[in-house]
Amino acid sequence: MSDDQTPGFSTLSIHAGAQPDPATGARATPIYQTTSFVFDDVDHAASLFGLQAFGNIYTRITNPTTAVLEERVAALEGGTAALAVASGHAAQMVTLHALMTPGDEVIASTKLYGGSINQFTHSFKSFGWNVVWADPDDIANFENAVSEKTKAIFIESIANPGGIVTDIAAISAVAKKAGVPLIVDNTLASPYLCRPIEHGADVVVHSLTKFMGGHGNSMGGVVVDGGTFDWSRDGKYPFLSEPRPEYQGIVLHETFGNFAFAIALRVLGLRDLGPAISPFNAFMILTGIETLPLRMQRHCENAQAVAEWLEKHEAVDWVSYAGLPGDSSHALMQKYSPKGAGAVLTFGLKGGYDAGVSLVSNVQLFSHLANIGDTRSLIIHPASTTHRQLTDEQKIAAGAGPQVVRLSVGLEDIADIIGDLDQALSAG
Ligand SMILES: *Cc1c(COP(=O)(O)O)cnc(C)c1O
Repeated sequence: MSDDQTPGFSTLSIHAGAQPDPATGARATPIYQTTSFVFDDVDHAASLFGLQAFGNIYTRITNPTTAVLEERVAALEGGTAALAVASGHAAQMVTLHALMTPGDEVIASTKLYGGSINQFTHSFKSFGWNVVWADPDDIANFENAVSEKTKAIFIESIANPGGIVTDIAAISAVAKKAGVPLIVDNTLASPYLCRPIEHGADVVVHSLTKFMGGHGNSMGGVVVDGGTFDWSRDGKYPFLSEPRPEYQGIVLHETFGNFAFAIALRVLGLRDLGPAISPFNAFMILTGIETLPLRMQRHCENAQAVAEWLEKHEAVDWVSYAGLPGDSSHALMQKYSPKGAGAVLTFGLKGGYDAGVSLVSNVQLFSHLANIGDTRSLIIHPASTTHRQLTDEQKIAAGAGPQVVRLSVGLEDIADIIGDLDQALSAG
């Protein structure tokens, strides 16, 4: 590859951020399973603690294995820097922690992963962070939700569970007018399918637990700094625009420019809240990312075939998958996720609750569990599991009515995936 050639996405998935280990020549990124790092001398230690030099002090804040993961995800998303943390939920927490003080508001899409709805409704509320919900079916809902206290807008690119695609550019315009950053959870799409920063997102978050790691074996999360937001414009974000007393009065935005947000999350969120990822998990997820483009292609092909097959099945009432030409998200998918609509889809069974229970009881290849983004095909009937404590009305509002089944279509042979659904639907 010549020096002036920009590496493509697959090349970045394998190489970005990594080099042969300078100490040993190891070609794969080593797992630096250490809590702490020896200083060269007293001056070196002082410069690290004062943020005058970059380097490792303690694995809660930085680690060389994790740093490769961070650089790789930043490159894949087209951001300036990234911060890896222990889980997707930790990524959401440290992101808002840098932006919000008690009494502030975050506008969040009603079409979010159920765990995020819980996190925002209960735990964030107890921090004094107020959530204003907006249904993304009508962008005016976001405009109307903006107030003096708004500090951020939070959406998903492809939304869990229904695989609904959100109009990122339209909501970015609302965020820009309000002078607040747009945060996009890109977990279901992955940067292979959608790169939200190109459509106006300022910050991208992921559960690395899902498609990025991709093998259902390691928890992780990441925050990518788009480098696009002016944190000093109107004094709304004092963490970034005011002197930090514990760092000799450094102003983070002034000192670190277009990657100040990633630094702020590290030296405040990770330092004080502490949700560090283990270097071992960083290694597992890095290994997963090397095959992200291949896996996402196959996930999309298999999910598309399953959606088309289900749509014609007599036991099936409806299928929600943006890859289907008749789907309400199909036009947005062609704009934001043109290579495919991802692996997650929902469908409704004519037989209602009992048919859902029967299907998850009769599958053999599919695993009945609460996760997505594994190599394995996964199935869940939300009404009898994740959403069982809700009333029928609440279930329907959350897209988890009694007849709804969610699939995360895996990487097995498509004949086996469809064969399993076929036998399980007839067994009921
Ligand atoms: C799973 C998930 C999360 C939470 O991530 P964890 O790694 O489980 O903490 C957040 N957003 C979406 C869209 C998810 O699917």
